[in-house]
Amino acid sequence: MIDFNLSEEQRALQELARDFAQKEIAPVALQYDKEPAFPGEIIKKAHAAGLMNLTCPKEYAGQGVGLVNAALVVEELNAACVAVAGMIGINSLACSPILIGGTDEQKRRFLIPLNQAGKTASFCLTEREAGSDAGSLKTLAKLEGDHYVLNGQKCFITNASYADLYSIFATLDPTKGTKGITGFVIPRESPGLSIGKVEDKMGQRALNVAEVNLDNVVVPRENLLGKEGEGFKIAMETLDEGRANIAACAVGLSRAAFEAALNYAKERVQFGKPIGTFQALNFMLADMAAAVDSARSLTWYAGSMADQGRRYTREAAQAKFFATDVAMRVTTDAVQIHGGYGYTKDYAVEKYMRDAKLMQIYEGTNQVNRMVAGGALMRG
Ligand SMILES: Cc1cc2nc3c(=O)[nH]c(=O)nc-3n(C[C@H](O)[C@H](O)[C@H](O)COP(=O)(O)OP(=O)(O)OC[C@H]3O[C@@H](n4cnc5c(N)ncnc54)[C@H](O)[C@@H]3O)c2cc1C
Repeated sequence: MIDFNLSEEQRALQELARDFAQKEIAPVALQYDKEPAFPGEIIKKAHAAGLMNLTCPKEYAGQGVGLVNAALVVEELNAACVAVAGMIGINSLACSPILIGGTDEQKRRFLIPLNQAGKTASFCLTEREAGSDAGSLKTLAKLEGDHYVLNGQKCFITNASYADLYSIFATLDPTKGTKGITGFVIPRESPGLSIGKVEDKMGQRALNVAEVNLDNVVVPRENLLGKEGEGFKIAMETLDEGRANIAACAVGLSRAAFEAALNYAKERVQFGKPIGTFQALNFMLADMAAAVDSARSLTWYAGSMADQGRRYTREAAQAKFFATDVAMRVTTDAVQIHGGYGYTKDYAVEKYMRDAKLMQIYEGTNQVNRMVAGGALMRG
């Protein structure tokens, strides 16, 4: 038998996240969209409520929950605002390289102070000439005695302006391709590290995204993650969890858009009837509900594979592309159901649709995620 019921503990966690999201995030979501700013106070409160650093083990001052339980929280936070939730959740992506490739000493040194203080980090892989093709990155790391010197530029880095710690991927030898890529942890105060252009985006406006410049940044050997040349593997493993997480974000957003559309379809009357009774819209709502439920199932499935300690690269990739395509479709349909009003900033669905688009692009575009899933299928 497959049990779709949540345990009491899971329901309590879900309710905690829902209450927090509806009380602390939802009322200010449109304001943050209009005037993007660092949601520092909300992050502080999320930290105090135990809603940050979800999958980081307790011994490193995280919450120590599995991916399924994390998905319950992430869905609720993202139903309130994807961008603010993204700033609360960024550490799950940014700190994963340390959890995957770091030694126990490194995890204690970097994660405990960061997590205890409710500070945030960034994950720095992408470069101007190395987006989908991350293996061709050019940021150079050179070993000089007991330290490395890093030079290069990262772009599109979430939370770059506010991070206290950066997990950064550089190459020791560009001719070695992915085999030269190596991971490092770099504290913000490192001389030579600076923040460049901050992106002005279509959606997810409160999500800070900026360039990170590295100009002769000295990194001690003890900040190397894993061994030299293991960085690409660490980054890809990080993205497995990142993709399962984005799928949960997309479920939250899709659910919010669906609920808004359903409520509107019940209230809005044309031709003397609620518009939701017209078959064209009624079927649209049925398709939206089915899509959200399917996306959630794939998301929980990927999470449960991870929680069992099984390899879940394909499941995470398929949950990511499926759930984020659902988010794009459901938010677009939610605007359609709202008619002309849906295209105005008076209704949240306009924001939902803009926020959804990014989900098909980051953590690997959906084309790349289909390549990952398709490649795994062909390898059997
Ligand atoms: C708001 C935002 C936040 C981000 N946050 C982070 C972050 O925190 N850290 C980080 O490291 N990166 C981050 N990124 C970067 C993101 O992961 C990249 O934008 C993404 O991987 C795509 O790279 P690109 O933008 O260079 O597009 P490109 O790689 O240039 O792709 C352009 C188009 O070509 C397609 N394409 C490329 N190669 C193939 C192929 N082989 N087959 C089929 N189609 C292909 C793509 O799917 C896409 O449609 C962020 C990006 C954005 C926009």
